[in-house]
Amino acid sequence: MENRRIRCKICNSLKEGIILNHYNLKLCLECFPSFFRKRVVDTIEKFKMFEKSTPILVALSGGKDSMSITKALKDLGYNIKALHINIGIDGLSEKTEELVSAFCEKEGILLKILKLKDFIDIPLVKLSKVTKKPVCAVCGMLRRYLMNKEGENQTIVTGHTLNDEVSFILKNMLFWNDDLLSRISPVLKEKEGLNRKVKPLCLITEDETRLFCKISGIEVIEERCPYKSEVYDVFKGIVEELNNNFPGSIIGFYKGYLKRSKNFYRENDDQVVLNSCKKCGYLTLADLCSICRLKEKLLEYKHG
Ligand code: AMP
Ligand code: ZN
Repeated sequence: MENRRIRCKICNSLKEGIILNHYNLKLCLECFPSFFRKRVVDTIEKFKMFEKSTPILVALSGGKDSMSITKALKDLGYNIKALHINIGIDGLSEKTEELVSAFCEKEGILLKILKLKDFIDIPLVKLSKVTKKPVCAVCGMLRRYLMNKEGENQTIVTGHTLNDEVSFILKNMLFWNDDLLSRISPVLKEKEGLNRKVKPLCLITEDETRLFCKISGIEVIEERCPYKSEVYDVFKGIVEELNNNFPGSIIGFYKGYLKRSKNFYRENDDQVVLNSCKKCGYLTLADLCSICRLKEKLLEYKHG
């Protein structure tokens, strides 16, 4: 999205702005942030995500997406706190922690920082070997677990964007992961042991979160996590290309998916029965949850 001279649809002045092809809309740089906030409010209301007074815990990674939603919710007067999980990557994690701390202090947002190593003091690479899962998957599993424990009685907001959601759908359609496809939703309902999780950026593109941070003067972490899988990049690239070539296509695809998936997967949703983990109470399909199974594997690994 390049800046150019446009006639702003909101304030009608002729000045520097951007063209949002997917909405067929021209906006000046001054009017864009309020447009962005309005899109956030509309999404929260459309999917009945939460009310003004609902206690919200924003999962703040330091990237442009979670920084933009935190700032927008704060500006809009929602009842937010933030949670950052330091995953212990040399150099990158310290810098990220400093950045989110400075941002929250400036914005007057209460921030809790958890360090992965305080929960499990074994390097992610080793955990990946023991579980035979990619580092990114193990890290995601641990982050979700900590987020759920920390977010008790709160609604958790994540920075997942329209690009994330569509990439995830396309990837899981290509490999027909029905189990994952059936659970895609902007709102994951609260279940015993699991908090309500919502994605207020699910109809907003990454071009927009990037621009919102830039105009709002928010510094974000640009470095890519070294453990992020290349598969992820492939699908993100495809989605960006689709949206550039066919403006509006990805938002239409996502809305269409949400509408249709209710028909495809209606039965699955009710059939899945989750139990409480016998050790820690976390929700699971098995007797022990993924984290307690990981801990058992680590013990076997140590003694074997
Ligand atoms: P990702 O899985 O990296 O695409 O991140 C998706 C969302 O998860 C982000 O927008 C954040 O809301 C949240 N998130 C990711 N990493 C962290 C972290 N280290 N601490 C807190 N929240 C995170
Ligand atoms: Zn304007």
